[in-house]
Amino acid sequence: MNFSALKLSPPLLQVLEELDFQNVTPIQAQSIPVLLQGRDLVGQAKTGSGKTAAFALPLLEKIRLQDRRLQALVLCPTRELCAQVAGEIRRLGRRLPGLQILVLAGGQPVRPQVDALEKGAHLAVGTPGRILDLLQREALETRQLATVVLDEADRMLDMGFRDDMERILRETPRTRQTVLFSATFPSDIEALSRTFQKQPTRVTVVETE
Ligand code: ADP
Ligand code: MG
Repeated sequence: MNFSALKLSPPLLQVLEELDFQNVTPIQAQSIPVLLQGRDLVGQAKTGSGKTAAFALPLLEKIRLQDRRLQALVLCPTRELCAQVAGEIRRLGRRLPGLQILVLAGGQPVRPQVDALEKGAHLAVGTPGRILDLLQREALETRQLATVVLDEADRMLDMGFRDDMERILRETPRTRQTVLFSATFPSDIEALSRTFQKQPTRVTVVETE
């Protein structure tokens, strides 16, 4: 399947062409239409299957560039993953003028992050601990958050972020779209999905090697 079959806008299709993303991966083919409709999604597919673009393209499609309040929040388990995911989203969004993406990860000074939030951004990628910290400092405004993505949700639970994730989700608007990606599907992921998602579409890509 080709990307032009998905209802993406010209700047995104142009970038995909420039990056030589010729065909959608299975997780992308199944997730992107659901996410473009604004529905909640639980996605399961192995590492390297293109999950970042699967959630990033619909996020980018939805962002209103003229509004510099935070519209999307992506939670990742580590600082390295935050940087990697933010890098991929920036690459995919490079033809969206003025797009501002922040990395809000722990293990680095909080002050510059507070200042950056003050200046305004469309999207943030952060670790649960630091995002919760910024929420408690009232540096991070959640009112305009339309989408929250839990990337590598199983790893975040393994790393002990359950409380932080739940507190963050409770601080975000009930009207949000909640997207959960995980490589595995233990019962605690199922429970998280049941508590925080609304009639999620479940997408599982199984290996047929
Ligand atoms: P995952 O999160 O599932 O582990 P990533 O989103 O990190 O996977 O993607 C792995 C690599 O594949 C990245 O380098 C990404 O740029 C590339 N990629 C993703 N989707 C496509 C595609 N449709 N065509 C070509 N390359 C892709
Ligand atoms: Mg990933």
